[in-house]
Amino acid sequence: EYVNLNELINYILNRFDMILNSDDQPSKTYKIDRKITTKDLWVDLDTDKFTQVVDNLMNNAIKYSPDGGTITVRLLETHNHVILTISDQGLGIPRKDIAHVFDRFFRVDKARSRKQGGTGLGLAISKEVINLLGGQIWVDSIEGRGSNFYISLPYVPYEGDEWDDDSENS
Ligand code: ATP
Ligand code: MG
Repeated sequence: EYVNLNELINYILNRFDMILNSDDQPSKTYKIDRKITTKDLWVDLDTDKFTQVVDNLMNNAIKYSPDGGTITVRLLETHNHVILTISDQGLGIPRKDIAHVFDRFFRVDKARSRKQGGTGLGLAISKEVINLLGGQIWVDSIEGRGSNFYISLPYVPYEGDEWDDDSENS
């Protein structure tokens, strides 16, 4: 189904802001900084599965950051892709582990991760979903500084006027 990605991302982030301000306060606070294009970006995807991926990345950003951290979410378009970036100022990922974080059951430093809880499947599933959509997911990170997770999806800008011109000429 075609979904307006900027609307969907804002909707998902609104939920994270609502959790923060609800009576049922989470144990950790965070601030979400939105750098999201205001342009409509219509993309063909499975809304539920894509929402699950963004939830995974947001939950990781919260889980692997100190209390009160800022999570920056960017959405922009290039000429044939949309790129979503979720950046945190958290623990980061050791250089030697970066290549493995999308593997099933992989968790950085078992001792560190055990305290946090989780199965090590979130990113593996996220990668599967994004690849099925014809997109890519990757990360760059500096240990002790934070991580940037990127998702790119193929995107064809809607050229309504051109289409109208063609149909008139034929
Ligand atoms: P779950 O299945 O509940 O998501 P998980 O969070 O441990 O468990 P993944 O989301 O797949 O599993 O992440 C794999 C590992 O990558 C994590 O255990 C953590 O060590 C590391 N990681 C993921 N996201 C971040 C992040 N934003 N900052 C630092 N480390 C991260
Ligand atoms: Mg996770």
